[in-house]
Amino acid sequence: MLIDTSVTIAYKCTSCGSFAFFNASLFTLLYKKNYSLSCHCKKSSISVRQEGENSFFVRIPCIGCDHEHVYMISGRSILLGKPLSISCPETGMQIFFIGTDEAVQKKVDSVEEELDNLIDTYGYESYFENTRVMFDTLNRIHDIALSKNLYCECDSTDIGLVLLPDCILLHCAKCGSRKIIPAAKNKDLKDILAISHIMIGTDVYFEPKEPIQG
Ligand SMILES: [Zn+2]
Ligand SMILES: [Zn+2]
Ligand SMILES: [Zn+2]
Repeated sequence: MLIDTSVTIAYKCTSCGSFAFFNASLFTLLYKKNYSLSCHCKKSSISVRQEGENSFFVRIPCIGCDHEHVYMISGRSILLGKPLSISCPETGMQIFFIGTDEAVQKKVDSVEEELDNLIDTYGYESYFENTRVMFDTLNRIHDIALSKNLYCECDSTDIGLVLLPDCILLHCAKCGSRKIIPAAKNKDLKDILAISHIMIGTDVYFEPKEPIQG
């Protein structure tokens, strides 16, 4: 019997926001004492450290909460073939996958499929200053709305949403109040991931540069 011991690792880079992929042999992961894997942008990396007989620690910087997350992964769980995904405990954002190449590609594809839909809707990727930040910000606002924490000063929860190249405009369908959520930089994303509710009406950060429709 031939056992394929190669695994694929993917993690979401804290700097460029894209998934970085690596191939490694399970034996390298289990028996090489210490090493790190860097994103192609060279601005973030994860580190792997052997632990005991049959497991290793992985240390992942998190784009969601700005902290580092450390997990222990056993060689056995990988050999059993189930892909492992790790989410940020604070924001729920999926930041790390490990498993067979096919399984990991599939997982990342499903995360990015929604991003493609967004790009399709707007025709071309360059509409947004940073499409990934826009996408993740939109998801965050969606989560906040689902937990009923997106509302207007006037008590209405009927909130409209307009995507602009560098921000999201929220507006109350009842009273017309507005709020701008910046969505161009990873810092903007970190800001919105740090809040759990949004109230429209009180503060306007800045006026959008583009004319507003809808
Ligand atoms: Zn990167
Ligand atoms: Zn996190
Ligand atoms: Zn209102």
